[in-house]
Amino acid sequence: MDINPQDLQRILSQLPPGPRMPAIFVGHGSPTNALEDNPFTRSLAQMGRDFKEPPQAILVISAHWLTAGIFVQEGQRPETLHDFGGFPEELYRVQYPAPGAPEYARATAALLGTETATTTQWGLDHGAWSVLRHIFPEARIPVYQLSIDWARKIDFHYDFARALKPLRDRGVLILGSGNVVHNLRRSMPRFMEGDPRPFDWAVEFDAWIKDRLEQRDFAGLSRFDGVGQAALLSVPSPDHYVPLLYTAAVAEPGETITHIHEEVCYGGISMRTFRVEANGR
Ligand code: ZN
Repeated sequence: MDINPQDLQRILSQLPPGPRMPAIFVGHGSPTNALEDNPFTRSLAQMGRDFKEPPQAILVISAHWLTAGIFVQEGQRPETLHDFGGFPEELYRVQYPAPGAPEYARATAALLGTETATTTQWGLDHGAWSVLRHIFPEARIPVYQLSIDWARKIDFHYDFARALKPLRDRGVLILGSGNVVHNLRRSMPRFMEGDPRPFDWAVEFDAWIKDRLEQRDFAGLSRFDGVGQAALLSVPSPDHYVPLLYTAAVAEPGETITHIHEEVCYGGISMRTFRVEANGR
């Protein structure tokens, strides 16, 4: 949707000025990363420390909030959702008590147009808090989420999410949280055996993603079906892939892309995590 300049200015004027923010994609992997101290979580913590100025608010697009329709979570005090089963008790006790960001949520819904509604019927799912716990452990920065409309075709999301770009200039950190390669069924046997070796197809598709990013072919990330078998195995369903398109959609071709963490583990899970920003650091 193209918004006219007057409406854009009116919506943005409702938000305080803020520093331009990077955009981030995090490959979140297992919810247990929330509790772990490993190379991936240390990369997240370092990324948090590298912020020159903190964001005014954080908008998360998570693989774990799939809806019929499009929603922005506008609660004042978003609940920490333990949206998984069969994990250690300790994980269910984790809280990420960040405040919500109702004014940013309403502005975001307005930028995205009439198809998008605000709701208080969600909190922060583990795609958000399991990684934010490492990036911003103090949980002081307001956080809100945008849902993924499950019924949309893959090529809808990139064009749709471009309307989020102006938020970056209002101090909003846009954070996509999924995994660019995510085949749990194929990965489970290696996970159970503690065998971290990646499958060839996972390495191939992860490299294709990196190459698209290096080429600044952001729109091309939606056209992975042309890649063949490696793509089919890497993206057996779109849920963990789509958040990548939201981060890519708010990137500019001239920006620096820094790969914070690169790892394909347990056969078919890519933990690729990157940051996009104007001048690099
Ligand atoms: Zn997940």
